[in-house]
Amino acid sequence: MTAPLDLLDVDTLLSDEERDVRELVRRVADDKIRPHVADWYERGEVPVRELALEFGKLGLLGMHLTGYGCAGASAVQYGLACMELEAADSGVRSLVSVQGSLAMYAIWKYGSEEQKQQWLPGMAAGELIGCFGLTEPDHGSDPANMSTRARRDGDDWVLDGGKMWITNAPVADVAVIWARAEEGVFGFAVPTTTPGFSAREIKHKMSLRASSTGEITLDDVRLPDSARLPEARGLKAPLSCLTEARFGIIWGSMGAARDCLETALAYATTREQFDRAIGGFQLTQAKLADMTLELQKGYLLALHLGRRREAAGGLRPEQVSVGKLNNVREAIKIARTCRTILGGNGISGEYPVMRHANNLESVLTYEGTSEIHQLVIGQKLTGLNAFAS
Ligand SMILES: Cc1cc2nc3c(=O)[nH]c(=O)nc-3n(C[C@H](O)[C@H](O)[C@H](O)COP(=O)(O)OP(=O)(O)OC[C@H]3O[C@@H](n4cnc5c(N)ncnc54)[C@H](O)[C@@H]3O)c2cc1C
Repeated sequence: MTAPLDLLDVDTLLSDEERDVRELVRRVADDKIRPHVADWYERGEVPVRELALEFGKLGLLGMHLTGYGCAGASAVQYGLACMELEAADSGVRSLVSVQGSLAMYAIWKYGSEEQKQQWLPGMAAGELIGCFGLTEPDHGSDPANMSTRARRDGDDWVLDGGKMWITNAPVADVAVIWARAEEGVFGFAVPTTTPGFSAREIKHKMSLRASSTGEITLDDVRLPDSARLPEARGLKAPLSCLTEARFGIIWGSMGAARDCLETALAYATTREQFDRAIGGFQLTQAKLADMTLELQKGYLLALHLGRRREAAGGLRPEQVSVGKLNNVREAIKIARTCRTILGGNGISGEYPVMRHANNLESVLTYEGTSEIHQLVIGQKLTGLNAFAS
């Protein structure tokens, strides 16, 4: 957080090393993302490969993983990096989250030694791009019902089906694909050059436009057994990857909210109506005060979960749900309220606020919708499963 928004001095809870990581990522966001991102957003195009190489040089890809060229950063350092990236744009943070926490994590956690050697060093360097295909056109919140099938044919596997809304898919070199076989759900590291694999860019998005999103078709995709992630058994494997990525969102969403609030605060102290700064009106101050409370609480929550993760070596799924539900929901409220403070300018791409607000609509939906996280928390509280009949 930056003064004057850090009213509670939460920054004093960070170590010097953590602040250094934050400064590094903030600088790269200022130099490489902020000057261009409004234009990428407007055009609906983003230079994924260039950015990945840049992020790879700084150790931001798979930064919380160890070995295979990964930086081995702490949970809080990783969280702070996500916060600074998303303060620039949620789409760019998504690129890093999907690469590191979904595609790389799946291979790192569930892959064979050969798969790790084959993919991870290149992915950490940003030379290879990965994606993670779980969602399907007809199965989003309920991946257990997935239609994509994996069937044995001699020593090979053959994949058939389709995946929808897959970040980085149109540019990926490797797709981690989850498919149902007779024995249960398996994961596969699929080279995107495999015959029968295709990915088309999803156009006309009104949110997360500075991110490449694709629809994958799998048409008799034949793979050797060595492409199957040997340690992944059942749906808990992809769900554990989502828990990883959600941790980054808990921090990132607060970055987007902070950028909105900084913009609104600067605007409120310079924009005059009725011969005085609009920040001098009590109604504007009430908005600024309430948003600052939520931003500080969300930052504290992210930091608490980061410290728990470092100390306990992991977070329980319902703890991650508390963070994702609260911080994304509050971030989107902050973005929308900031937009009102900017008046007509609030809808302009000249300011980042509407872009953040629109992006956060995707962040609210992906990695488990708000409703799904409410159900996870509700089940923990009551012991009753409301997901299914
Ligand atoms: C920009 C973007 C990028 C994405 N990237 C990826 C990616 O890289 N990889 C990937 O696998 N997926 C990705 N997704 C997909 C995302 O995870 C899904 O969109 C999300 O899980 C919701 O699924 P759905 O869209 O099918 O909605 P649905 O599951 O159809 O949900 C529609 C509505 O019904 C509600 N609902 C569903 N079930 C229940 C219930 N039991 N009780 C109450 N309400 C319920 C939901 O909360 C929601 O409000 C991405 C999505 C977007 C928009």
